[in-house]
Amino acid sequence: RQGATLSDLAEKINVNPAALVTVLFHLGEMATATQSLDEATFEILGQEIGWNIKIVSAEEEDRELLQQFDIDLDSEQEDQDDKDLKPRPPVVTVMGHVDHGKTRLLDTIRKTNTSAHEAGGITQRIGAYQVTVNLEGEPRKITFLDTPGHEAFTAMRARGAELTDVAILVVAADDGVMPQTVEAINHAKAADVPIVVAVNKIDVEGANPEKVRGQLTEFGLVSEEYGGDTMFVDISAKLGTNVDKLLEAVLLTADADLDLRANPNMDARGATVEARLDKGRGAVATVLVQQGTLHVGDAIVAGSAYGRVRAMLDENGKQMKEAGPSTPVQVLGLTSVPTAGDVFIVAPEDRTARQIAEKREATARAAQQAKRRKVVSLETLNEQ
Ligand code: GDP
Ligand code: MG
Repeated sequence: RQGATLSDLAEKINVNPAALVTVLFHLGEMATATQSLDEATFEILGQEIGWNIKIVSAEEEDRELLQQFDIDLDSEQEDQDDKDLKPRPPVVTVMGHVDHGKTRLLDTIRKTNTSAHEAGGITQRIGAYQVTVNLEGEPRKITFLDTPGHEAFTAMRARGAELTDVAILVVAADDGVMPQTVEAINHAKAADVPIVVAVNKIDVEGANPEKVRGQLTEFGLVSEEYGGDTMFVDISAKLGTNVDKLLEAVLLTADADLDLRANPNMDARGATVEARLDKGRGAVATVLVQQGTLHVGDAIVAGSAYGRVRAMLDENGKQMKEAGPSTPVQVLGLTSVPTAGDVFIVAPEDRTARQIAEKREATARAAQQAKRRKVVSLETLNEQ
């Protein structure tokens, strides 16, 4: 577990971080305000300044808050009976270097595989969508996060939302491995997410898919032809070439590497994919259900936003009454706009949802104020 810093402590107990550095120095320990320290050091320091110090992460702090309302995320996870778990679609993020074709690929997949274009409907971007693919005669769903780029991926992970099951790494065959390709690989590896490589732009003159395969072996992504276990598919996002094969490869990779199951028969939980304030409809949030089933009428809390689900819409604007695991839905009825990556949970009552949201809001406000105070005290110190 990560340690805490003297700055963190200073913020909590409202003192100047420099003062804590000094106290620790007199105890024979040299440390800067931003250096990560272990619990033992904090214990010695605490005895000196008269505080009982416990290091808890923001996550743990929030867990404790939820426990006050009898919501225990851990025990719910562990209590999952094997027979309650049902297969769920993989959730996929498209990553890769700028201009290598992430957006184009997501558009092509959406246009050719969602039901909207058959029904003549208009698909709207809600931050995620689902497609149906036939694999060996069996219809299978895949959920795409429609927010390309690893900024979104890291932002969500940083907020505790582990959304992605499989990453599609897009590499343009006329450009090869570039810095953000490497970054994307590192992010996926850090999150332990299997990668399917889409070698894109094979329609472009001078495209060299073999070169991409060669380059990627250096990063541990070895294609099956080369004796490795990473699936590579040569595609043209522009012409739609082999996009169906790419989707099959995603399913095959998920089936081979992952055991994607969830219990649909419990209170829903998941993460906010994107959210905004709509003039007519108020706060509109796209959430991805990860466990359980979300229903119209459920009381939910996402970060410090809360409310009762008034209506749910899919990416085709179709009303939904319920949404099970791996389903993205646009939710109406929140009283404020949550942040992308905020985890959402269903609360037993409207009142509980409101109280959790308000406590989080208060914690966030206190942290903000402490930050502001710290700046003031440091300036004062410099003047002296
Ligand atoms: P992103 O930055 O990764 O999202 O890249 P974009 O999807 O915006 O694509 C960058 C440019 O490459 C755009 O002009 C696309 O139309 C073009 N492009 C994407 N895929 C292909 C492809 O398969 N073939 C060709 N010829 N152009 C493509
Ligand atoms: Mg783009």
